[in-house]
Order: sequence, then C-alpha cells, then structure tokens
Amino acid sequence: MNNALDGKVALVTGGSRGIGAAVALRLAEEGADVALTFQRSQQRAEGVVDQIKTAGRRAVAVRADSADPAAVVDAVDQVAGEWGRFDILVNNAGAFLLNPLEELSLDEFEQTVAVNVRAPFVATQAAVRHMSAGGRIINIGSNVAERAVFPGFSLYAMSKTALIGLTKALGRELGGRAITVNLVNPGATDTELNPADGPNAETINGFTALGHYADPADVAAAVAFLAGPDGRYITGATINVDGGFTI
Ligand code: NAP
Repeated sequence: MNNALDGKVALVTGGSRGIGAAVALRLAEEGADVALTFQRSQQRAEGVVDQIKTAGRRAVAVRADSADPAAVVDAVDQVAGEWGRFDILVNNAGAFLLNPLEELSLDEFEQTVAVNVRAPFVATQAAVRHMSAGGRIINIGSNVAERAVFPGFSLYAMSKTALIGLTKALGRELGGRAITVNLVNPGATDTELNPADGPNAETINGFTALGHYADPADVAAAVAFLAGPDGRYITGATINVDGGFTI
C-alpha cells in the first residue's frame, strides 16, 4: 500500500466485479475513499466495500443503473455530499452487445448508447461541479474503437469510440481548472464479460503481441497511475492496455 491518493474521494461506476472492482480496490490501496455503483450484484458490491473497509478506507456501494441518467447524477451528488469532496471519477460500467448490423434493434442501440456514452457524459457533468484543481476523470473504453478485427462489433465499437472525442474535448475544456480527462482502452481482459478460457480466447490471444489476456489488475494499474500525482501532466490521452492488440 502507498498513500498517493490519501484524502481523495473516488467513484467507480460498475465496481461490483471485473475491471471496476479491480479499479476500486486499487484506488483504495493507494489511499482513496471509494464509492462504487452497481446494477444488480448487490452482494458482490458489498463484498468489494468490505474489502476496502478492511484496508482502512471508507467505502460505499450505490445501486445506480447507468442507463438512468438521474440515478447516475444522484450517485455522484450523494458521494460528494456525504464525503464532502469529489476527486476521481472512473466511468467504467459498460454495455457489451455483439451482433450483425441487421440484427441490432433500435432498443439495443438506445441501451448501449445510454450506458456507454450518455452515462459517462452526465456523470462527468455532475462530478466536475464538485471537483477542485487536481480532479481526475478516467473513462474506460475499449481497444475495438481502434482496431476492428471481428464482425459484430459495430454498435459497441461506435459507442466506445465516442469516448475518444469526449476525452479529448473535455481534456481541452477542463485543463484550465487543472482537471485531467483520460481514456483507458482495455483489450481482452479476464472478466465474466470476456473470460480468458472462453470459446474465442485463443483467437483473441493470437491478435495480441503478448499472447494472453490482461488481468483486471493490469487495467487498474493504468487507472491508478492516471489518478495519482504522477499522472498530473497527462490529459486528453488514450492508453491502450491491450497486450499489443492495436499495434
Ligand atoms: P463485467 O465483468 O461484465 O462487469 C461489469 C460491471 O459493470 C459490473 O460491476 C456491473 O454491475 C456493472 N454494470 C453493467 N451494466 C451496468 C449498468 N447499466 N449500470 C450500472 N452498472 C453496470 O465487465 P468488465 O469486463 O469488467 O468491463 C468493464 C468495462 O471495461 C466496460 O466498460 C467494458 O466495455 C470495458 N472493456 C472490457 C473488456 C474485457 O475484455 N473484459 C475489454 C475492453 C473493454 P452488476 O454486477 O451489478 O451487473
């Protein structure tokens, strides 16, 4: 444990499992108090909260469906209100739907854009109202925004590509307030969404340089770096944590 984030308050959306849980735990390890949102997995969210509290930091889990903009804004305001500050927002919760173009419905389009694009937008809008100099916005995208090697990714890749524009534009806009905005694009990462022993894993591994999936902790390490004092001069940037998939 180090104390790079001592006294900071962070919120991670979708922190009950997978990459979000790893990020929440890592930020707490670095000293932050961490709130996390979840959609369904209350018990697992409480499990992450317990782990953070055991490590000596404050933690809370808030049920907030990212498809509901009011719920997302309420979660941000609740954390800032109860803990008196807001320093780090990690927009991690994501909707992952793969299908050929002609099989995608308008409802699926709306749901994916609501969770992957609108939620980061409104969460950031709410968060910056509470942030002072040194604030950090970190979006979790996907490397499929940069390299399309499989069919079926049109909706998901489109939604994640929107985060590149959001990150750059807000990096510019918020720079004067010393708030940085960055994008971490994971590649295949071993979670329930994309297990490293899943049916497509061998093919995916073949597209990477390192030949294997990321562990969620690998993505969390990049987020922690951007969130910490050493990341202070990086803004508007995209960091691929993908084992060389996009090379
Ligand atoms: P995961 O294992 O499926 O976990 C998803 C997390 O997000 C859970 O905590 C889940 O909460 C939460 N969540 C999902 N939909 C939500 C919603 N509508 N509202 C609030 N919370 C919601 O996924 P992951 O692999 O960790 O992915 C995390 C992020 O990384 C996503 O943005 C994903 O697109 C991106 N990513 C993942 C990979 C990969 O290979 N795993 C690769 C590139 C990018 P509940 O537990 O309550 O359902």
